[in-house]
Amino acid sequence: MQRILIVEDEARLASILDDYLHAAGFASHWLGEGRGVASWVRAERPDLILLDLMLPSRDGMEICKDVRTFSTVPIIMVTARIEEIDRLLGLELGADDYICKPFSPREVVARVKAVLRRTSGQTQPDQGLLLDPPTMRATLDGRNLDLTAVEFKLLAFLHARPCLIYSRDQLMERIYADQRIVNDRTIDSHIKKLRRKMEQVRPGCDLIRSVYSVGYKFEPDLG
Ligand code: CA
Repeated sequence: MQRILIVEDEARLASILDDYLHAAGFASHWLGEGRGVASWVRAERPDLILLDLMLPSRDGMEICKDVRTFSTVPIIMVTARIEEIDRLLGLELGADDYICKPFSPREVVARVKAVLRRTSGQTQPDQGLLLDPPTMRATLDGRNLDLTAVEFKLLAFLHARPCLIYSRDQLMERIYADQRIVNDRTIDSHIKKLRRKMEQVRPGCDLIRSVYSVGYKFEPDLG
């Protein structure tokens, strides 16, 4: 049975999460404050951590950094403010996913499962998508997507890092090596065109997803 560590100072919320995780077949353990989390993780080796950001005595960011010094255990960071996620992404703390409060416990369970599937290597890259960097040619299900250089770079970057969320700023930094002045909308419009081209080949294709309004990620098809 996989064990989930819930680090959350609101007891009522922790207990709801606990109920849902149990119903989904997980075992869970609850810690109500930040101090002692890292040593608990070191000793008990949970399979995943649901880590609240705002905690008494030691905050989620510090804990995430502590844990990453000795463990690659999947971490889902829980924040109360959507704006916080962008800042956290920028810090590259090494969390595997982010959830914003208020959340539905059902959604949390789905995310836990998705992160576990991915980190255990059960997520395969999309078989129908082939990228050829030297020619910047991408084919989906055997058909050329006919991408522009920027669209190809965006797709190749996200595709190489499945399920990781990147903010618009991060994507701009990585795509525009020459630091031209571009604004957020530019990334959005390139992604939009890229998605449209993919959907023309594969209707309903949502390999590139937007996350909250914070950024984008490549989500391989699990089918
Ligand atoms: Ca809290």
